[in-house]
Amino acid sequence: MKTYDYIAIGGGSGGVATARRAAEYGARALVVEANRLGGTCVNVGCVPKKVMWYAAGIAQAMRDAAGYGFSVGDTRFDWNTLKSRRDAYIARLNGIYANMLEKAGVDVVRGFARFVDARTIEVNGERFSAPHIVIATGGRPLVPDIPGAELGIDSDGFFALAQQPRRVAVVGGGYIAVELAGVFNALGSEVSMLVRGPHLLRPFDALLREELMAQMQEDGVRLNFATEVRSVTRGTDGTLRVACSSGKALEVDALVWATGRRANTDALDLAAAGLTADAHGVIATDAFQNTAVPGIYAIGDITGRAELTPVAIAAGRRLAARLFLNQADSKLDYDTIPTVIFSHPPIGTVGLTEDEARARLTAVKVYSTRFTGMYHALTEHRPKTAMKLVCAGAEERIVGAHVIGEGADEMLQGFAVAVKMGARKADFDDTIAIHPTSAEEFVTMR
Ligand code: FAD
Ligand code: NDP
Repeated sequence: MKTYDYIAIGGGSGGVATARRAAEYGARALVVEANRLGGTCVNVGCVPKKVMWYAAGIAQAMRDAAGYGFSVGDTRFDWNTLKSRRDAYIARLNGIYANMLEKAGVDVVRGFARFVDARTIEVNGERFSAPHIVIATGGRPLVPDIPGAELGIDSDGFFALAQQPRRVAVVGGGYIAVELAGVFNALGSEVSMLVRGPHLLRPFDALLREELMAQMQEDGVRLNFATEVRSVTRGTDGTLRVACSSGKALEVDALVWATGRRANTDALDLAAAGLTADAHGVIATDAFQNTAVPGIYAIGDITGRAELTPVAIAAGRRLAARLFLNQADSKLDYDTIPTVIFSHPPIGTVGLTEDEARARLTAVKVYSTRFTGMYHALTEHRPKTAMKLVCAGAEERIVGAHVIGEGADEMLQGFAVAVKMGARKADFDDTIAIHPTSAEEFVTMR
């Protein structure tokens, strides 16, 4: 049996980050990865998604070009060329991850880990033990259990598509659903979204939800609310027939399930380590990423909190500092986590929604604006930019900042620093605007 100071089960965002830091602090660290290094984010998440989002942006820029005097000739888009180039980029990243770990002195074992006891795991019949084991096994797409569900694909299947479907149904109304629907639509597919609730992006501020719904609809996405899929069947010509609760039936070439994810804990044999997961596969942790069993920790998506790459990384790095750098108080503050949705147009959001602030705080005051960004002054396609600042208390502390529109993705990070530091509306007012930008509206709202 090989022994280490630290074992990370899962070589995704969290596992790689925590093991590298632990090694930097002198620990003998091991990462066990069943699939490709980099995990969800690198292989079937953030990275390939952002590549597709850029491609969609190029399609939109070509459409906008006429407004600036360009006559764009007959352009063609080849999905499979983009896929091959994207896959090659990701293969390079996989190699970079392997090199980074090697350089950091972290051992990597390829295979599926299972617990033998609280200090020992088994991979491909070999045993490894450590006094500290962190579970960072992420999650996988969840598909509803209905007849014909297997005829659809999930987000992993989206990245495997070799051809662009002409007609697509996207089921769900969350992050992945709006991002993938936006990409398909911008690249020319005919898109129908099937959403069980009354709107997209349920947990987000109403301004973001409503603006996105209006703009997606204007861009030609067919939004169907209060709609659940009852069954999927395939016709002899390959067409999928999607029967919905509304009585409506759609005919499409592909159906994408974007109906949430489940934590990867089912096959870990948690019981052997004395651990349990909840009904969603989530492992409960305290503020320090400790599970109920001393010496076993959990980070990232399997903890069921803010399923974002930087969150998994930050939790892993702070845990490594606590365990191997004697920083006893090192832990991640899960409050005020900024996030961007790479929809069309993109959304940036940090802090409380207006509704949350009104329910929890006193003297809530809201500033908002809606305008056409200057880029679109000359284009035929004129999506709006909308912003909201949610302030609370006599000193008008900013507790939420929300933006949808061109550039929102790159705009929010700096404002998130200000919100995290406890900025007041007066601090925003005191900051000189940068002109001409859309971001300047954040400091000029009255
Ligand atoms: P993962 O990155 O999922 O890594 C877990 C790893 O563990 C996997 O490689 C898996 O193979 C391995 N594993 C599982 N079980 C075992 C086992 N028993 N033994 C060995 N290995 C095992 N987040 C953002 O911040 N920005 C985005 O733009 C973004 N876009 C996304 C788009 C999509 C389509 C998806 C699905 C997710 C996106 N996310 C995004 C979320 C982000 O990918 C995750 O939050 C992040 O990857 C979580 O990291 P993790 O370390 O918890 O798990
Ligand atoms: P989300 O929680 O964002 O959305 C899931 C969607 O599926 C919701 O609209 C939900 O509806 C719907 N849904 C769930 N079950 C069913 C069902 N049985 N039938 C129909 N609809 C259903 O999860 P995602 O899978 O989109 O994304 C997972 C996480 O990954 C996100 O929460 C985010 O943290 C991360 N991510 C981050 C991205 C980024 O940073 N840009 C991009 C992509 C993912 P309802 O609202 O009614 O519950």
